[in-house]
Amino acid sequence: MEIKRRDFVKLIGTSLAGLAVGGGAGAMMKLPDSFFPVLYSGPRVETWKLTSCSKCPGSCSLKVRLIDKFPVQAFGNPLSPINDGGICSIGLTSISDLYHPSRISSPLKKVNDKFVPITYQEAYSILLENLKNVIGENRQDDIFIIAQTESEIRAEIFKNFSKETGIKNLIIDNYRSNSTSPYSEIAAEAPDFIDFEKCDYLLNFGAQFSEISQNPLYYARALYEFREKGFQITTAGPKLTPSNSKLDEWIPVQPAAFGDLALGIAYVLLKDGQYDKNAETSISGFSSIKKYIIDNYYPDNAEKLTGVPADTILQTGRKFEKAAAPVAYFDESILFTSNGTENALAIIALNALKSFSGYGKIKDEFYNSLIKNDNSIAENVTFGTFKNRLAGKTNIKTLMISGSNFIFNNTDQETLKKQIGSVPFIVSFSPFIDETSTFAHLIIPDHNELEKLDLLFDESIGKSVISVQQPVVDPFFNTTDTGDIVISLIKDLKTESKFLFNNVNDYVKAIAEKLYKNGDGTLMSQSKFTEIEKGLRKIGWKTDEYGSFDDFWDSLLEYGGWWNPFGEKKSYTPGIDFNGKLSAVGGINYKGVRPISNNKFYLNIFRNSLDYKGSMSLYPVLVEQFGHIWSVFYKLWVEINPETARGQLLRDGSNVFIKTSKGKFPAVVIYNPSVMPGSLDVPFGLGHNVLGDNSGINPLTFSENIFDRVSGKPSFTETIAEIESASSNNSFFSEDTLNHKKELSESAQRSIYG
Ligand code: SF4
Repeated sequence: MEIKRRDFVKLIGTSLAGLAVGGGAGAMMKLPDSFFPVLYSGPRVETWKLTSCSKCPGSCSLKVRLIDKFPVQAFGNPLSPINDGGICSIGLTSISDLYHPSRISSPLKKVNDKFVPITYQEAYSILLENLKNVIGENRQDDIFIIAQTESEIRAEIFKNFSKETGIKNLIIDNYRSNSTSPYSEIAAEAPDFIDFEKCDYLLNFGAQFSEISQNPLYYARALYEFREKGFQITTAGPKLTPSNSKLDEWIPVQPAAFGDLALGIAYVLLKDGQYDKNAETSISGFSSIKKYIIDNYYPDNAEKLTGVPADTILQTGRKFEKAAAPVAYFDESILFTSNGTENALAIIALNALKSFSGYGKIKDEFYNSLIKNDNSIAENVTFGTFKNRLAGKTNIKTLMISGSNFIFNNTDQETLKKQIGSVPFIVSFSPFIDETSTFAHLIIPDHNELEKLDLLFDESIGKSVISVQQPVVDPFFNTTDTGDIVISLIKDLKTESKFLFNNVNDYVKAIAEKLYKNGDGTLMSQSKFTEIEKGLRKIGWKTDEYGSFDDFWDSLLEYGGWWNPFGEKKSYTPGIDFNGKLSAVGGINYKGVRPISNNKFYLNIFRNSLDYKGSMSLYPVLVEQFGHIWSVFYKLWVEINPETARGQLLRDGSNVFIKTSKGKFPAVVIYNPSVMPGSLDVPFGLGHNVLGDNSGINPLTFSENIFDRVSGKPSFTETIAEIESASSNNSFFSEDTLNHKKELSESAQRSIYG
């Protein structure tokens, strides 16, 4: 298909809308000079390629449209059983990311406090030399690696590096392992998925299913179908986020009280005797747990602890006990309070009383047969361990950072900055200079995801799915796949390494070859298999025959992935040990009373629009979507329940200061009936001062130094704040806007509270 020059520039302009700040194409995107003649003159040939998005754990398969080998737009791959042709706003930024003007285009070394470009060979030698020296002194324990990645393969490469080099301090920070980490506290494997074929009641503790979850686009469909079948979803949390506002019932409660609420509900089941009696044997320490709950969580006390009316707790308990296969659900977000892991354990205990009947496991060992998960050398290292080491007397000699902007994503940032400023050698693999990589001595920028090869694994749909991420373009700049660097380091630091692959490409292809050989499953497709076909498959019959692995590989790239619709599932029946695990559930500041006093509120930092890493500022188009509802865009705003706001004589749109023990910051008041009374809800993701457009404020800078006692994650909800009016009678909005918003707010208030 031939595209005219004017149309092509329009296309590029659309895909890069968020970056267009200047006149020509050069002002809104970064490209090697050698690309510009083709960009301006054609020949305008259209092609398509399939790849996958790794901007969240969802592993959506994407169809990318290219003109003259320039990606211009991403669509969802309709063949994917995960996203079914869908794509979210963050997925759309895959294209603009590639051309982003802030991308680092070559390795950088810090000289006299400034970054200067160097060659890859020089950068690699500096890194290798440093590691050789520290390892040569037997000081592996003084090396830390922090890697934020949703890719199992890339996590596995880091684990192999850790194992081969003896560097035990590896922190893999990803949504999936964070969400399942509480299960390791009770020596149990986590469930693989919610079994929507069985589940008949969903009690959600704070997860934002269709915004930030294991699989946002899949959950958006699955939950719609779940409700269409007549089943109910109750969501507990301090705010009705857009995805949760479509659910059936909201229990306003602070996250620090999730554990107390779960045990209050468990009390109802125990008192009514309506729990699965198998729990008495499958849970070690059942009788002492039962006594603990019965003694401490009778409805009046549960109300006192949580602020949730006793009647609501009773009714929810009755719904949970009547359901044949209920699920009490939590995810990574639960860790962001001082008692996050303990709260998760209380929710697991509630599920145990109904034998986890709404959850499921994949029966075959599909993934384990493809990737060997042996990370024993790196277990139990958390961000808390890292912070303790930074604060302690034993120095950290070397810090390797991949994909993590932990300075921006944490409270107590000034202390962290001071502490990592004293680490003698920091290497970052970030593609951007951000609040964390700015402290590096060396940056070796990673490829963009459209330049990489990977296989993304997912089981949350109840089937094993592998989405292929393949290079859609050759690397634009002098960047390097971080996986390739880590594999080279394995080879150079360990003479007889057991890791046999020379680069990511080899490793990924070796995994694909296992897939080819074991033959389970089929190419990604929307085909509906008949029961006869499924039966034939079980006895070894195969329709997909490939002449060779190369044929198979080509088909895999062409269709975008593989899945196993014939795989069977099984019940999730873990043996769990709760001995000594269910005491002291309460949060640090949470008193179960709301508001705390006339002018003392909980600062609730919320995440929105799938931006769980807080990098939205990189994409102005997202900032505008993010702030779109409220027309505030680039300022920080605070959402307040109208009842609370009026109690403080605050008008919708007025300018205020929010004051915490760390200082005060300005915000625009937004009336929002879906915020619980007593909370000040401020968005996370704005306020970068190194990365992005510097708009807004990062509320974590003003949050108290409160962390989950087990995972070390910062608390997003337990800072106490006050409101100060910036000046009387000031408003960000015009009178007309205020009147219109008042009508909207009142109608929303009526729809929620009746
Ligand atoms: S849901 Fe996640 S994986 Fe899917 S397109 Fe959006 S960011 Fe990408």
